[in-house]
Amino acid sequence: MKENIRTLIALQKLDNQIARWRQIAAEGPVKLAQAREKLTVLEEKQAALKANLAGNSQRRRELEGESADLVSKKAINQTRQLKAKNNEEYRAVLKEAETIGIQLAAKEDELLSLMEEAEKLDAEVPPAEEACLEEAGIFEELAREIERSVQESLTMEEQSQVARTKLTESLPRDILGRYLTVAKNRDGQALAPVSDGLCQICRLSVPPQLFNELQRNDRLLSCPNCARIIYWPEHPDFKPQPQPEEPSLEAHG
Ligand SMILES: [Zn+2]
Repeated sequence: MKENIRTLIALQKLDNQIARWRQIAAEGPVKLAQAREKLTVLEEKQAALKANLAGNSQRRRELEGESADLVSKKAINQTRQLKAKNNEEYRAVLKEAETIGIQLAAKEDELLSLMEEAEKLDAEVPPAEEACLEEAGIFEELAREIERSVQESLTMEEQSQVARTKLTESLPRDILGRYLTVAKNRDGQALAPVSDGLCQICRLSVPPQLFNELQRNDRLLSCPNCARIIYWPEHPDFKPQPQPEEPSLEAHG
């Protein structure tokens, strides 16, 4: 039985690692999307700025055309002032001159404020472009890093699955079945070490009689509270196997 428990401990360790690698692989695309979002916001800001500038420039061209038309109208009006045949006609021509003057002034005002706006927008373009470039660099580096860690996790998981199959094949079917059932019901954590009389996963105490039995290490036992398969990690069976010692230099003088 102690061999089976050792195998279960190794299996649990491997399953926990596999779960971590799967998590890294699953989080990769989420992190990437978050980083992309930041870059997209800056790109949209830059695009909006350029669209504003283009709109501003188009309106200025229109205004210049409209002002030129009004200047022609003004010249014609001045000729008509000289040729007015009576007072009534003269007043009407003067009235028109006044209207043209008001319209021209309004176009000039609009043109001036558009030029001021264009100047401000022009000044905003270089920092916006710089921020975009900088964020694009950060994003690309992050994307490479995420891609690398996801790929590494997938490879590690694949390799672990080979080792996992070996472990599961070496376990009796009923013990493996019990491990898998508990793992399924307990979020992947089927095993629980018991130290100081406490189940180290659910943190509740194990009755002394059960703890005595556990220390014999000859049966598969469960935590009475969380139902996980328990073991006593301080048992000599679970101590790391002593490595063959290197010959000490000191011993040879
Ligand atoms: Zn427990």
